[in-house]
Amino acid sequence: MFNDRHFPHLPSLALLLLFLRLTLATSPPQQDLETPIARFQKYLRFNTAHPNPNYTAPVSFLTSLAQSLGLKTRSVEFAPNKPTLLITWQGSNPSLSSLLFNSHLDSVPAEPSKWTHPPFSAALTPEGKIFARGAQDDKCIAIQYLEAIRNLKARNFVPTRTIHISFVPDEEIGGIDGADKFVKSNEFKDLDVGFVLDEGQASVNDEFRVFYADRSPWNLIIKARGVPGHGSRMYDNGAMENLMNSIEIINRFRDSQFDVVKAGKAANSEVISVNPVFLKAGIPSPTGFVMNMQPSEAEAGFDLRLPPTTDPELVKKRIAEEWAPAVRNMTYEIIEKGPLRDYMGRPLMTAIDDSNPWWSVFKQAIAAAGGKLAKPEILSSTTDARFMRQLGIPTFGFSPMTNTPILLHDHNEFLKDTVFLRGIEVYEHIIRALSSFEEAGSV
Ligand SMILES: [Zn+2]
Repeated sequence: MFNDRHFPHLPSLALLLLFLRLTLATSPPQQDLETPIARFQKYLRFNTAHPNPNYTAPVSFLTSLAQSLGLKTRSVEFAPNKPTLLITWQGSNPSLSSLLFNSHLDSVPAEPSKWTHPPFSAALTPEGKIFARGAQDDKCIAIQYLEAIRNLKARNFVPTRTIHISFVPDEEIGGIDGADKFVKSNEFKDLDVGFVLDEGQASVNDEFRVFYADRSPWNLIIKARGVPGHGSRMYDNGAMENLMNSIEIINRFRDSQFDVVKAGKAANSEVISVNPVFLKAGIPSPTGFVMNMQPSEAEAGFDLRLPPTTDPELVKKRIAEEWAPAVRNMTYEIIEKGPLRDYMGRPLMTAIDDSNPWWSVFKQAIAAAGGKLAKPEILSSTTDARFMRQLGIPTFGFSPMTNTPILLHDHNEFLKDTVFLRGIEVYEHIIRALSSFEEAGSV
């Protein structure tokens, strides 16, 4: 009887076990999301790389993460299918301005064949390195913000100022449908933001880096026109000759800026950089280019980066008079990729002196976390912070990653687990200090 009734069930039990084993092998077990590292890995595994970033899945993951912490969430689309996720921890004194912690959802693409681990695997090595596109730029800070709040809540901390976290799309492609539209929206106005922290960059030593400004990118295209002629003739004002003259002049300017950096008088990000990025000339032939003809048109493209202290009018004057002068049959086009001045016409930078009370609160928070702060820097490249600074809101770029190689946009981007966890502690101190800061009620 016993055998008759129960023995036939054994094969299905074996199948069930097999099924369970298969299930465990293919989908992460529940406890996988019970640690900050596991939650970081989960966020890293969403493929948010351009040109087709998946925004839906990470937004719903972050939403449920925030809701599990009792935080308010709201997703707004300022452009179709490009959500901005807003998370709010209500402060006890809503009459004070709020704090905003920003990060972007998207990442730059990765070439899997150049990576030791697949770029969206978030593989954790025995040495504790977590490999993923976005590990440094900037999915780390997104999870660290939330984990810091989790820990503060566990200790019954109540913020005085309201804390907002924003997750914006499209930073890596200029932020036009992301932070730019967000900061110009009524939703943003309603947040009454007094101070912003946005992404920064890794530090190769044990000092945390903080950025008070970004350089502003300009694309410059110069065009030369001239009389075409036989390749054997030497004559004045040919297009190629005119263009090459300009390139020499631009190169001399580049050297003058670079010399300042080489002499140790300024950081790379404190001078105007100008780098040639394309040359376009010649008359194509089936085998290459026509070799016995001097063309009537030639052009070159340059990537310029201007520190906020630059007078843009002076640079424009230099371009018009020296780099692409009409007297040499040159024309030019400048595409300004971002603002250099705020809404009041002031240089786009956040004060790092006593005039900015947030600066000393921030500095003290880093010290309280046992951290050392490097001399504040201008970021060589550009982030969404420029959009907030344009509104005159004090904004620092900060990503707490010390003793970490700078691998943003590089192959094999990784972050060490210990560095990631230390960053959570640092944000606990920062959030605690900034959200408790009550003096200067007007800020
Ligand atoms: Zn970034």
